[in-house]
Amino acid sequence: MTRVDSDQAACRHADPDLFFPVGTGVPTRTDIERALRFCRSCPITDACLQYALEHDHRYGIWGGTTPQHRRTHYHQESPR
Ligand code: SF4
Repeated sequence: MTRVDSDQAACRHADPDLFFPVGTGVPTRTDIERALRFCRSCPITDACLQYALEHDHRYGIWGGTTPQHRRTHYHQESPR
């Protein structure tokens, strides 16, 4: 699996489900940590994060960030 179209992605052979953890329990947190470990060793983290932000990917691990991290640090809430 490649989160972005690159054979440099550290996650290119990882299980895609790892990057879309479901739930809030300990197994989910363990999956999130495992996914983030891939990102920490990835040479295209910045490009991956930029891709996720540009395409408004609200779910999954992208560029070393969780959805909550992206919401907190990168998205402005639009006025309703
Ligand atoms: S930053 Fe993380 S999710 Fe993005 S390509 Fe690299 S390992 Fe995959």
